[in-house]
Amino acid sequence: MTIDYTDLYIRGAWARPSGDSTIPVISPTTEQRIGSVPEGTETDVDDAVDAARAALTDWASWTAAQRAEVLGRFADELESRAEDTAARVSSQNGMPITLARQFEGGFPPVLLRYYAEMAAKQEDEIRPGMLGGSTLVTRSPIGVVGAIVPWNVPQAITFLKLAPALAAGCTVVLKPSPETVLDAFLMAEAAIAAGLPPGVLNIVPGGRDLGAYLVAHPGIDKVSFTGSTGAGRAIGRTCGELLRPVTLELGGKSAAVILDDADLTANLESFYGATLLNNGQICWLGTRVLAPRSRYSEIVDTISDLAKGLTVGDPLSDTTQMGPLVSSRQRERVEGYIEKGRSDGGRVTAGGGRPADTTHGWFVEPTVFADVETGHTIAQEEIFGPVLSVIPYTDEAEAIAIANHSDYGLGGSIWTADPERGAQFARGVASGTVGINGYSNDPTAPFGGIKNSGLGRELGPEGLASYQQLKSIYLDVR
Ligand code: NAD
Repeated sequence: MTIDYTDLYIRGAWARPSGDSTIPVISPTTEQRIGSVPEGTETDVDDAVDAARAALTDWASWTAAQRAEVLGRFADELESRAEDTAARVSSQNGMPITLARQFEGGFPPVLLRYYAEMAAKQEDEIRPGMLGGSTLVTRSPIGVVGAIVPWNVPQAITFLKLAPALAAGCTVVLKPSPETVLDAFLMAEAAIAAGLPPGVLNIVPGGRDLGAYLVAHPGIDKVSFTGSTGAGRAIGRTCGELLRPVTLELGGKSAAVILDDADLTANLESFYGATLLNNGQICWLGTRVLAPRSRYSEIVDTISDLAKGLTVGDPLSDTTQMGPLVSSRQRERVEGYIEKGRSDGGRVTAGGGRPADTTHGWFVEPTVFADVETGHTIAQEEIFGPVLSVIPYTDEAEAIAIANHSDYGLGGSIWTADPERGAQFARGVASGTVGINGYSNDPTAPFGGIKNSGLGRELGPEGLASYQQLKSIYLDVR
């Protein structure tokens, strides 16, 4: 049975799309069509932005506590659909179901409650001045947000934006990625059931041209984008021209640095989580593994054995650790990088091809390259697949130099028996986030990148602040 929608979620209800074209959703595992949604048009974006603008005044005038009540109901409705959400995401992008339950089913309600509560606790601030009087500092919602998300972790990434934006009193027009739309429509069902006021959230699915139209739309006050660096540059250019606030969460090529005292075998599960999770399709994964020359062959063996031992298969199975890539195009791209890795002189020590026992599905074996040099293409460009490059280093100074020899700066991890040493090393890594003996985005801490990995931060109080406008009212001016 396929899941097919005929209407769009605009103004709090199902609305007839203005066009008649649809977006088919294809399973990366079976290569069969599993559903479809209407493809939004520019007219639909206009309608969605109008709805969001019309809703803004009212939603922004509610107290944060009133909004928190509705957002709590939204969280409850999402929670009751969590298993279905996880299954839809896995079926669309190949994410192993155990991970989808955690990231896609579990995380959105947590984020909604976290930000609803944070906003409800915020108060205007009175700051004693230096010049005699004092200043009243107020926060107000930044306005209508255009949110554009990718397919790799669609629900969690959507709620990195939605939760703080809605809690702050903004209204949103969301454009999901064409590969993952069925989860967005389930979210719309949850929003309707929760009684989210009409126009507070609107969803228009479509491709990059529709995204570009939304970014430049005169009714949008802020753009929040997660996706590739190339698209981020184009969006940044438009927002620069318009002087429109923008948050850009872009690509990565992070370093997993194994220090000479690390016991990797004791931390293998965390290492898999920090380097190969979600079939290698996460922006912050540490896909450049830096290993000390003194232990190089032992570490290459450990990582290669890990890759060879992963259960590759149907993402909907509880035992699967590695599903297919999202599309045949993505698989071709990853295979192109594997070819390039070989021709540049890298040595494949695990994987390197398609799993022998699969007849369909866009699978690539978990792949490890040894003898990779930092200048090699596979050590510099984002592959977005299960391909690790193990690069040797001589001492800590060289390790830092190699870790920072990247156009990106998003994630990373340090592996060591001495967490203090790890934290000290992490200070020198040019990146927005780094984990010690693991990697996980805690909701309380700012997440985002430097260099080509983006602008701005999500999560933590900083995530809420990015949807708020500050105003200083100088009191008792003398
Ligand atoms: P993508 O940039 O091709 O597409 C992302 C979204 O943007 C899609 O919805 C797409 O339709 C839209 N889009 C594309 N070009 C656009 C444009 N010019 N204007 C407006 N919208 C546009 O990326 P993808 O292939 O879907 O996702 C993978 C990329 O996302 C990787 O580079 C990955 O590192 C990055 N990513 C970053 C983060 C992060 O938090 N930094 C998280 C997840 C993914």
